[in-house]
Amino acid sequence: MHTLLPTSIVGSLPKPSWLSQPETLWSPWKLDGDALTEGTRDALRIAAHEQSRRGIDVISDGEQTRQHFVTTFIEHLSGVDFENRETVRIRNRYDASVPTVVGTVSREHPVFVADAQFLRQQTDQPIKWALPGPMTMIDTLSDQHYKSREKLAFEFARILNQEAKELEAAGVDVIQFDEPAFNVFFDDVKDWGVAALERAAEGLRAETVVHICYGYGIKANTDWKATLGSQWRQYEQSFPLLQRSSIDTISLESQNSHVPMDLIELIRGKKVMLGAIDVASDVVETPQQVADTLRRALEFVDADKLVASTNCGMAPLRRDVALGKLSALSAGAALLRDELSSAAC
Ligand SMILES: [Zn+2]
Repeated sequence: MHTLLPTSIVGSLPKPSWLSQPETLWSPWKLDGDALTEGTRDALRIAAHEQSRRGIDVISDGEQTRQHFVTTFIEHLSGVDFENRETVRIRNRYDASVPTVVGTVSREHPVFVADAQFLRQQTDQPIKWALPGPMTMIDTLSDQHYKSREKLAFEFARILNQEAKELEAAGVDVIQFDEPAFNVFFDDVKDWGVAALERAAEGLRAETVVHICYGYGIKANTDWKATLGSQWRQYEQSFPLLQRSSIDTISLESQNSHVPMDLIELIRGKKVMLGAIDVASDVVETPQQVADTLRRALEFVDADKLVASTNCGMAPLRRDVALGKLSALSAGAALLRDELSSAAC
């Protein structure tokens, strides 16, 4: 792995069209039973291979074995009734029909551990696995049992910690928790959100990441972003708390967003996974654009703490576009790496 400016994607990649409908979230599988297991593994293998050959340093599964980054994890837990659905507002932004928590939540079997073992077999490079964060999980459910967002979040944190420890034992080097809800529920973040996240990451030797973003490039999110004004200062709420937390790395979006770069100063000392690839646009960045975005961050983060990444997952993108963006990311990081090493000579 490059010691300077390593590259890593946030998580998802588009799935092959033989596996599920492209450019669609929650797209149903086109296979089932053993064929589905085999198909998702083949897709995972392709995702790992494409990242590797396009110069990505820390390899993800591309979320090829999951339908959705939050729902698929919850589907494997007991205490949640998927038949009994209610329409709720997700992150105060769009309505979705969600399952109901009807009893004590627990994880009776590992969820992604076998998939992570499979990814481990595909590459000798470091691997990263993403899990939903506790607050983002509770935001996609209707709770009829705990009647407390905080209590349910800590239950999920306990479950996530079990899963994370098994992922670590399976050889996962970096464990990421996706918490887009941290950009919305600021009081909860302060009162218990960061504490629940730390509970999920408790005792891990693997590097830990929290990914906080403005969401996939889907209409509900782009409409919301249009209301946020010329400066997106949401990170200002969570960053000081995360700076004092036990989490190693903060993943944020930057490319084509209105996030003022100087907000990164608030997490000084942490590793920063900077989104230098816009996932809401079909335009593939040039390596120069990627390098420019990363270079602007260097005013606020030490070079040895900067990881070049995407703004968010790329699941809804066209496959050729997403693959082009992988290449642009690594080429852009390489440009800046060369610049920094020649400046040091
Ligand atoms: Zn994201």
